[in-house]
Amino acid sequence: MSSNIRHVLGISGGKDSAALAIYLRSKYPQLDIEYYFCDTGKELEETYTLISNLENYLGKKIKVERAAADSPENSFDHFVQVYGGYLPSSSARWCTKKLKLEPFEKFVGNDPVVSYVGIRGDEDREGYISRKSNIQSIFPFRRNIWSEDVIQKVLHVDSLSKLVKAYEKQDLTEKQARILAAVATPLSRSFNQTHKLNLLLDAGIAAFNKAAFEVLQETLYPLAKTSEFALLDNEDTLVRDDIFRILRDSGVGVPAYYEKIEFEVDGQKGEYSRSRSGCFFCFFQQKIEWVWLYEQHPDLFARAMEYERQGYTWMEESLVELAKPERVRQIKLDAIKKASKKTASSSIYLLDIIDEAEEEGCASCFI
Ligand code: SF4
Repeated sequence: MSSNIRHVLGISGGKDSAALAIYLRSKYPQLDIEYYFCDTGKELEETYTLISNLENYLGKKIKVERAAADSPENSFDHFVQVYGGYLPSSSARWCTKKLKLEPFEKFVGNDPVVSYVGIRGDEDREGYISRKSNIQSIFPFRRNIWSEDVIQKVLHVDSLSKLVKAYEKQDLTEKQARILAAVATPLSRSFNQTHKLNLLLDAGIAAFNKAAFEVLQETLYPLAKTSEFALLDNEDTLVRDDIFRILRDSGVGVPAYYEKIEFEVDGQKGEYSRSRSGCFFCFFQQKIEWVWLYEQHPDLFARAMEYERQGYTWMEESLVELAKPERVRQIKLDAIKKASKKTASSSIYLLDIIDEAEEEGCASCFI
């Protein structure tokens, strides 16, 4: 494969990026992928175990990037000092920017890069898209592997004739040939971008990918710098169950914090676990995950508490309040109630409240 571009994959410590690395290694061994991990200095121990297992599987080192690497403090503590003790939150997320995105962009530099992102086919989110024009995100687990900006470009009225020509070059089936009429129809209020995209993907994912790739050849996107791209034929869509299967079948294993642990309160049984990777004190955690940390990793909970001072807390209630026995009891009861409601209304998957929460937050930290 021509290689004027770099291929990179960020390992977050979460299940989806790990499964993506395994999937791409086994399905597209010809891709020379560079793996990296932006270490905040506050990761769970299980994250380092996963990274070590992955390195063994991939036969390749995962490059560790650290923000403020010259500081005597670890990355997070360095920036907490810089911000005067001001803790990050979902509305002031300096941590993602400083500890994940900036080290990633430094790692990439100005090279043209394809960045593979493990957002699954059963998720409805876009994930982080770099504003740097030399970085192009690709989503191999989704039916639509392209980022939103690429789709806008490809389906834009200015690209219409190029798209039609790109389809015409292909050896189309009768059904796909009929789709050409739709391809040539400009977007409108009654025929919007999502509608058109779905129609084209329904008619043939590989055909759409090849046409989109052709349109991109006349742009400044990194993929314009290569004449071929292995994933154009990819028609796979991978969902949550596939991710767990890939991790288990490969021998890499599922990070231990995903494993559900049973608890009992007032004679009722419930389960808790952690839903995602990232810092042990991440403010995206649900209350029941904080209880999990308090009971399963009391040392880490105590360390999270140490950051809460001078009015700065990880959420609206302090960890001192959350750890009170009556509050722990109530959080567990709430979790049991929410899980039973979810179970009563769920379809084929027994998704619980924790699984449901995993789509919140940041692709750089949790995928
Ligand atoms: S895991 Fe949470 S606390 Fe850590 S960098 Fe990401 S968003 Fe911030």
